Amino acid sequence: MTKKTGKKESYWWQHKSFNEIEEHAKECDIAILPLGSIEQHGHHLPTGHDTLQLFPMLEKVAEETGAMLLPTPWYGAHPHHHWEFPGTIPLENDTLNKLIKDVVRGAAKAGFKKFILFFGHGQAFVTNYTVQELGREGYYVLSVMFQSMVRDIHKDIFETPFWHADEAETSLALHNFPEYVDMSKAVDMGATSLVDGEFVSGCTDYGVSTPLRFDSGTVSAPEYKDLKTEDGELIGVVGKPSLASKEKGEEYTDYIVERTIKLVKHIKEKYPAGEEVETI
Ligand SMILES: [Zn+2]
Repeated sequence: MTKKTGKKESYWWQHKSFNEIEEHAKECDIAILPLGSIEQHGHHLPTGHDTLQLFPMLEKVAEETGAMLLPTPWYGAHPHHHWEFPGTIPLENDTLNKLIKDVVRGAAKAGFKKFILFFGHGQAFVTNYTVQELGREGYYVLSVMFQSMVRDIHKDIFETPFWHADEAETSLALHNFPEYVDMSKAVDMGATSLVDGEFVSGCTDYGVSTPLRFDSGTVSAPEYKDLKTEDGELIGVVGKPSLASKEKGEEYTDYIVERTIKLVKHIKEKYPAGEEVETI
């Protein structure tokens, strides 16, 4: 789509001039910050998986709601078991939290008053205190882990819970950025837990009373300790990418987009543009 001026229409902050950004905030003062990672995702998926999947999702959300999309930092914080993989570029938790605070404080100067941290990577728990601290500074900041948002329908689409480079993540990739996927290299694999399976829950485990890694404020205690074969070969998968399909990825993505649109519209109605939200 192009405007009469010839300039391409975009909801991304980095494509706009400073005065266009300010004008945008007068119409819709909600800004979404996509947060993913640069992290190994097995042999068959790119390291940018968690970030790449967010672009098509959030562009649909922005188109439908008028929300602004903030430039994504690409890098993320990581559980320790990914750190030894070449290709993973981990941020320290403190670095990520400071970065989020700087982005929110900076974007607020242009008139944006409501922020959604939108996570495509299991790191929302690292930033829970940051959301609270920004609230104390007067900023309205929500944290969304999309896997949690659609947990109830996960089981209707996938045969296995959400883990890593698995059925769900590979399906998301096949739908959202198939050009960077090589299914001929996909390997199914489990992981070694630090305690027996009965004590550990998957990210979208089908149990009701078990702690869930993507729950806000809840970390399932012991993470798996390695992602290797018995011979020590680095594989990096937890789950079954062989079960993935483009169709599953599309259905799942549609739910995520639909529910995110619903959330943004709810915020718009509850707090019209320009309205200060009292967070303290
Ligand atoms: Zn991932």
